[in-house]
Amino acid sequence: MPEMRRYEGRAVLVTGGGSGIGEACCVRLAAEGAKVAVLDIDGAKAEAVAARLGGGAIAVQLDVSDARAVEAAIAEVVRRLGPLKLAVNNAGIGGARLPPEQTPLDQWERTIAVNLSGAFYCMRAEHPHLVATGGGAIVNTASVLSVVASPANPAYVAAKHGILALTRTCALAWGKDGIRVNAVGPGFTPTPLTAGASEEYRAAALAHMALGAFPQPEDVAATVAFLGSDEARATTGALYMVDAGFTIS
Ligand code: NAP
Repeated sequence: MPEMRRYEGRAVLVTGGGSGIGEACCVRLAAEGAKVAVLDIDGAKAEAVAARLGGGAIAVQLDVSDARAVEAAIAEVVRRLGPLKLAVNNAGIGGARLPPEQTPLDQWERTIAVNLSGAFYCMRAEHPHLVATGGGAIVNTASVLSVVASPANPAYVAAKHGILALTRTCALAWGKDGIRVNAVGPGFTPTPLTAGASEEYRAAALAHMALGAFPQPEDVAATVAFLGSDEARATTGALYMVDAGFTIS
Protein backbone atom coordinates (compact mmCIF):
# COMPACT_ATOMS: atom_id res chain seq x y z
CA MET A 1 0.00 0.00 0.00
CA PRO A 2 1.18 3.55 -0.74
CA GLU A 3 2.78 5.95 1.71
CA MET A 4 0.69 8.75 0.19
CA ARG A 5 -2.28 10.18 2.11
CA ARG A 6 -3.85 12.25 -0.68
CA TYR A 7 -7.39 11.76 0.64
CA GLU A 8 -6.92 12.46 4.36
CA GLY A 9 -10.37 13.14 5.84
CA ARG A 10 -12.04 13.46 2.42
CA ALA A 11 -15.45 11.95 1.71
CA VAL A 12 -15.48 9.73 -1.38
CA LEU A 13 -18.01 7.33 -2.84
CA VAL A 14 -17.57 4.27 -5.04
CA THR A 15 -20.49 2.62 -6.87
CA GLY A 16 -20.14 -1.10 -7.42
CA GLY A 17 -17.80 -0.92 -4.43
CA GLY A 18 -18.72 -4.37 -3.16
CA SER A 19 -16.58 -6.34 -5.60
CA GLY A 20 -13.69 -6.38 -8.04
CA ILE A 21 -12.34 -3.05 -9.28
CA GLY A 22 -14.75 -1.03 -7.12
CA GLU A 23 -13.66 -2.90 -3.99
CA ALA A 24 -10.00 -2.28 -4.87
CA CYS A 25 -10.79 1.43 -5.26
CA CYS A 26 -12.41 1.48 -1.81
CA VAL A 27 -9.35 -0.21 -0.27
CA ARG A 28 -6.91 2.14 -2.01
CA LEU A 29 -8.81 5.33 -1.18
CA ALA A 30 -9.25 4.28 2.46
CA ALA A 31 -5.52 3.50 2.67
CA GLU A 32 -4.90 7.07 1.54
CA GLY A 33 -7.05 8.45 4.35
CA ALA A 34 -10.48 8.78 2.72
CA LYS A 35 -13.82 8.37 4.43
CA VAL A 36 -15.32 5.86 1.97
CA ALA A 37 -18.97 5.23 1.08
CA VAL A 38 -19.32 1.78 -0.48
CA LEU A 39 -22.38 1.71 -2.73
CA ASP A 40 -23.55 -1.53 -4.31
CA ILE A 41 -26.72 -3.23 -5.49
CA ASP A 42 -25.79 -6.04 -3.10
CA GLY A 43 -26.06 -4.41 0.33
CA ALA A 44 -24.40 -7.35 2.10
CA LYS A 45 -21.29 -7.10 -0.08
CA ALA A 46 -21.13 -3.34 0.50
CA GLU A 47 -21.43 -3.92 4.28
CA ALA A 48 -18.63 -6.49 4.20
CA VAL A 49 -16.25 -4.16 2.35
CA ALA A 50 -17.09 -1.19 4.61
CA ALA A 51 -16.51 -3.34 7.71
CA ARG A 52 -13.12 -4.43 6.36
CA LEU A 53 -12.11 -0.81 5.66
CA GLY A 54 -13.01 0.56 9.08
CA GLY A 55 -12.07 4.22 9.50
CA GLY A 56 -15.66 5.48 9.36
CA ALA A 57 -16.47 3.75 6.06
CA ILE A 58 -20.18 3.31 5.38
CA ALA A 59 -22.23 1.00 3.18
CA VAL A 60 -25.28 2.07 1.18
CA GLN A 61 -27.39 -0.33 -0.88
CA LEU A 62 -28.07 1.20 -4.32
CA ASP A 63 -29.21 0.14 -7.76
CA VAL A 64 -27.69 2.84 -10.00
CA SER A 65 -30.34 2.27 -12.67
CA ASP A 66 -32.94 3.88 -10.35
CA ALA A 67 -32.48 7.65 -10.76
CA ARG A 68 -34.44 8.61 -7.64
CA ALA A 69 -32.61 6.06 -5.52
CA VAL A 70 -29.31 7.46 -6.80
CA GLU A 71 -30.23 10.98 -5.66
CA ALA A 72 -31.30 9.70 -2.25
CA ALA A 73 -28.18 7.56 -1.78
CA ILE A 74 -25.77 10.36 -2.66
CA ALA A 75 -27.61 12.77 -0.35
CA GLU A 76 -27.29 10.14 2.39
CA VAL A 77 -23.55 9.81 1.77
CA VAL A 78 -23.08 13.59 2.13
CA ARG A 79 -25.27 13.68 5.24
CA ARG A 80 -23.24 10.92 6.91
CA LEU A 81 -19.69 11.63 5.66
CA GLY A 82 -19.66 15.37 4.92
CA PRO A 83 -18.78 17.32 1.75
CA LEU A 84 -18.17 15.03 -1.24
CA LYS A 85 -14.71 15.34 -2.83
CA LEU A 86 -14.58 12.34 -5.18
CA ALA A 87 -17.15 10.09 -6.82
CA VAL A 88 -16.06 6.89 -8.56
CA ASN A 89 -18.88 5.77 -10.86
CA ASN A 90 -17.88 2.18 -11.40
CA ALA A 91 -20.97 -0.06 -11.11
CA GLY A 92 -21.43 -2.23 -14.15
CA ILE A 93 -22.60 -5.56 -15.50
CA GLY A 94 -21.16 -7.68 -18.28
CA GLY A 95 -24.09 -8.05 -20.63
CA ALA A 96 -24.67 -10.84 -23.12
CA ARG A 97 -21.70 -11.78 -25.29
CA LEU A 98 -23.89 -12.27 -28.37
CA PRO A 99 -23.80 -10.71 -31.84
CA PRO A 100 -26.11 -7.71 -32.34
CA GLU A 101 -28.82 -9.62 -34.22
CA GLN A 102 -29.10 -12.22 -31.44
CA THR A 103 -29.02 -9.81 -28.49
CA PRO A 104 -32.27 -10.10 -26.50
CA LEU A 105 -33.94 -6.72 -26.01
CA ASP A 106 -34.18 -7.14 -22.25
CA GLN A 107 -30.38 -7.68 -22.10
CA TRP A 108 -29.84 -4.55 -24.18
CA GLU A 109 -32.12 -2.51 -21.92
CA ARG A 110 -30.62 -3.70 -18.62
CA THR A 111 -27.02 -3.25 -19.74
CA ILE A 112 -27.68 0.28 -21.00
CA ALA A 113 -29.72 1.07 -17.86
CA VAL A 114 -26.93 0.06 -15.47
CA ASN A 115 -23.74 0.82 -17.40
CA LEU A 116 -24.75 4.03 -19.18
CA SER A 117 -27.88 5.55 -17.66
CA GLY A 118 -26.65 4.59 -14.19
CA ALA A 119 -23.42 6.51 -14.68
CA PHE A 120 -25.36 9.51 -15.97
CA TYR A 121 -27.79 9.44 -13.03
CA CYS A 122 -24.83 9.35 -10.66
CA MET A 123 -22.98 12.24 -12.30
CA ARG A 124 -26.14 14.33 -12.48
CA ALA A 125 -26.86 13.72 -8.79
CA GLU A 126 -23.24 14.25 -7.71
CA HIS A 127 -22.92 17.63 -9.45
CA PRO A 128 -24.79 19.83 -6.92
CA HIS A 129 -22.95 18.22 -4.02
CA LEU A 130 -19.54 18.76 -5.64
CA VAL A 131 -20.52 22.37 -6.35
CA ALA A 132 -21.50 22.78 -2.69
CA THR A 133 -18.10 21.35 -1.70
CA GLY A 134 -16.44 24.04 -3.81
CA GLY A 135 -15.18 21.57 -6.42
CA GLY A 136 -14.02 18.00 -6.61
CA ALA A 137 -13.56 15.10 -8.97
CA ILE A 138 -15.43 12.33 -10.73
CA VAL A 139 -13.79 9.22 -12.15
CA ASN A 140 -15.92 6.93 -14.32
CA THR A 141 -15.00 3.33 -15.07
CA ALA A 142 -14.89 3.06 -18.85
CA SER A 143 -13.16 0.19 -20.69
CA VAL A 144 -10.97 -0.70 -23.61
CA LEU A 145 -14.40 -1.10 -25.23
CA SER A 146 -14.80 2.70 -24.97
CA VAL A 147 -12.38 3.05 -27.87
CA VAL A 148 -12.43 -0.26 -29.72
CA ALA A 149 -15.42 -2.40 -30.73
CA SER A 150 -16.26 -6.07 -30.45
CA PRO A 151 -18.44 -8.17 -32.76
CA ALA A 152 -20.40 -9.25 -29.70
CA ASN A 153 -22.08 -7.56 -26.74
CA PRO A 154 -23.33 -4.40 -28.51
CA ALA A 155 -24.99 -2.94 -25.39
CA TYR A 156 -21.78 -3.13 -23.36
CA VAL A 157 -19.72 -1.58 -26.18
CA ALA A 158 -22.31 1.17 -26.73
CA ALA A 159 -22.52 1.89 -23.00
CA LYS A 160 -18.75 2.10 -22.60
CA HIS A 161 -18.38 4.34 -25.68
CA GLY A 162 -21.17 6.41 -24.12
CA ILE A 163 -19.33 6.69 -20.80
CA LEU A 164 -16.44 8.35 -22.62
CA ALA A 165 -18.86 10.77 -24.31
CA LEU A 166 -20.50 11.60 -20.97
CA THR A 167 -17.11 12.04 -19.31
CA ARG A 168 -16.05 14.57 -21.95
CA THR A 169 -19.43 16.35 -21.93
CA CYS A 170 -19.49 16.77 -18.15
CA ALA A 171 -15.81 17.79 -18.11
CA LEU A 172 -16.61 20.60 -20.53
CA ALA A 173 -19.76 21.64 -18.68
CA TRP A 174 -18.41 21.53 -15.14
CA GLY A 175 -14.85 22.81 -15.41
CA LYS A 176 -16.15 26.24 -14.44
CA ASP A 177 -17.45 24.68 -11.21
CA GLY A 178 -14.03 23.32 -10.30
CA ILE A 179 -15.14 19.78 -11.06
CA ARG A 180 -12.79 17.50 -13.00
CA VAL A 181 -14.32 14.52 -14.79
CA ASN A 182 -12.10 11.70 -16.05
CA ALA A 183 -12.37 8.03 -16.93
CA VAL A 184 -10.26 4.95 -16.43
CA GLY A 185 -10.19 2.22 -19.09
CA PRO A 186 -9.36 -1.25 -17.81
CA GLY A 187 -8.46 -4.07 -20.13
CA PHE A 188 -9.42 -7.63 -19.19
CA THR A 189 -9.00 -7.65 -15.40
CA PRO A 190 -9.59 -10.72 -13.22
CA THR A 191 -12.72 -10.01 -11.14
CA PRO A 192 -16.01 -11.83 -10.53
CA LEU A 193 -17.31 -10.08 -13.70
CA THR A 194 -14.76 -11.85 -15.90
CA ALA A 195 -14.60 -15.13 -13.95
CA GLY A 196 -16.76 -16.91 -16.54
CA ALA A 197 -14.64 -15.93 -19.54
CA SER A 198 -13.39 -18.85 -21.64
CA GLU A 199 -9.71 -19.76 -21.85
CA GLU A 200 -9.87 -18.86 -25.54
CA TYR A 201 -11.16 -15.36 -24.74
CA ARG A 202 -8.50 -14.83 -22.06
CA ALA A 203 -5.72 -15.98 -24.37
CA ALA A 204 -6.92 -13.65 -27.14
CA ALA A 205 -6.97 -10.69 -24.73
CA LEU A 206 -3.53 -11.53 -23.35
CA ALA A 207 -2.08 -11.87 -26.86
CA HIS A 208 -2.81 -8.16 -27.44
CA MET A 209 -1.29 -6.97 -24.15
CA ALA A 210 2.18 -5.56 -24.75
CA LEU A 211 3.10 -6.13 -21.10
CA GLY A 212 2.14 -9.80 -21.28
CA ALA A 213 0.06 -9.82 -18.09
CA PHE A 214 -3.50 -8.90 -17.15
CA PRO A 215 -4.07 -5.68 -15.21
CA GLN A 216 -5.15 -6.32 -11.62
CA PRO A 217 -7.97 -4.46 -9.81
CA GLU A 218 -5.31 -2.72 -7.68
CA ASP A 219 -3.68 -1.33 -10.85
CA VAL A 220 -6.98 0.24 -11.89
CA ALA A 221 -7.50 1.59 -8.37
CA ALA A 222 -4.08 3.24 -8.38
CA THR A 223 -4.97 5.17 -11.53
CA VAL A 224 -8.38 6.10 -10.14
CA ALA A 225 -6.70 7.41 -6.97
CA PHE A 226 -4.34 9.54 -9.07
CA LEU A 227 -7.10 10.94 -11.30
CA GLY A 228 -9.24 11.83 -8.30
CA SER A 229 -6.42 13.54 -6.44
CA ASP A 230 -5.04 17.08 -6.56
CA GLU A 231 -2.00 15.71 -8.40
CA ALA A 232 -4.24 15.47 -11.48
CA ARG A 233 -5.50 19.04 -11.07
CA ALA A 234 -4.76 19.92 -14.73
CA THR A 235 -6.42 16.77 -16.14
CA THR A 236 -10.08 16.65 -17.15
CA GLY A 237 -12.05 14.89 -19.88
CA ALA A 238 -9.31 12.27 -20.18
CA LEU A 239 -9.49 8.50 -20.53
CA TYR A 240 -6.50 6.78 -18.87
CA MET A 241 -6.11 3.23 -20.11
CA VAL A 242 -5.06 0.52 -17.67
CA ASP A 243 -4.94 -2.19 -20.29
CA ALA A 244 -1.32 -3.44 -20.40
CA GLY A 245 -1.12 -1.98 -23.91
CA PHE A 246 -4.19 -3.77 -25.34
CA THR A 247 -5.45 -0.75 -27.31
CA ILE A 248 -2.11 0.20 -28.87
CA SER A 249 -1.81 -2.94 -30.98
P1 NAP B 1 -17.63 -6.91 -10.47
O1 NAP B 1 -16.56 -7.58 -9.70
O2 NAP B 1 -18.82 -7.68 -10.90
O3 NAP B 1 -18.08 -5.62 -9.63
C1 NAP B 1 -19.16 -4.82 -10.04
C2 NAP B 1 -20.01 -4.52 -8.84
O4 NAP B 1 -21.10 -3.67 -9.26
C3 NAP B 1 -20.65 -5.78 -8.26
O5 NAP B 1 -20.62 -5.77 -6.87
C4 NAP B 1 -22.07 -5.69 -8.78
O6 NAP B 1 -23.00 -6.39 -7.99
C5 NAP B 1 -22.29 -4.21 -8.73
N1 NAP B 1 -23.47 -3.81 -9.50
C6 NAP B 1 -24.00 -4.45 -10.57
N2 NAP B 1 -25.11 -3.80 -10.97
C7 NAP B 1 -25.27 -2.75 -10.14
C8 NAP B 1 -26.24 -1.74 -10.04
N3 NAP B 1 -27.29 -1.69 -10.88
N4 NAP B 1 -26.11 -0.79 -9.08
C9 NAP B 1 -25.07 -0.84 -8.22
N5 NAP B 1 -24.13 -1.80 -8.24
C10 NAP B 1 -24.22 -2.74 -9.20
O7 NAP B 1 -17.04 -6.29 -11.82
P2 NAP B 1 -15.69 -5.46 -12.13
O8 NAP B 1 -14.94 -6.25 -13.13
O9 NAP B 1 -15.04 -5.01 -10.89
O10 NAP B 1 -16.32 -4.23 -12.91
C11 NAP B 1 -16.34 -2.91 -12.39
C12 NAP B 1 -16.43 -1.95 -13.55
O11 NAP B 1 -15.28 -2.13 -14.39
C13 NAP B 1 -17.64 -2.16 -14.47
O12 NAP B 1 -18.14 -0.90 -14.87
C14 NAP B 1 -17.05 -2.89 -15.65
O13 NAP B 1 -17.80 -2.68 -16.84
C15 NAP B 1 -15.69 -2.24 -15.71
N6 NAP B 1 -14.67 -2.98 -16.46
C16 NAP B 1 -14.27 -4.21 -16.03
C17 NAP B 1 -13.30 -4.90 -16.76
C18 NAP B 1 -12.81 -6.25 -16.35
O14 NAP B 1 -12.11 -6.90 -17.16
N7 NAP B 1 -13.10 -6.72 -15.12
C19 NAP B 1 -12.76 -4.32 -17.91
C20 NAP B 1 -13.20 -3.06 -18.31
C21 NAP B 1 -14.17 -2.40 -17.57
P3 NAP B 1 -23.45 -7.87 -8.47
O15 NAP B 1 -22.22 -8.72 -8.40
O16 NAP B 1 -24.50 -8.24 -7.49
O17 NAP B 1 -23.95 -7.72 -9.89
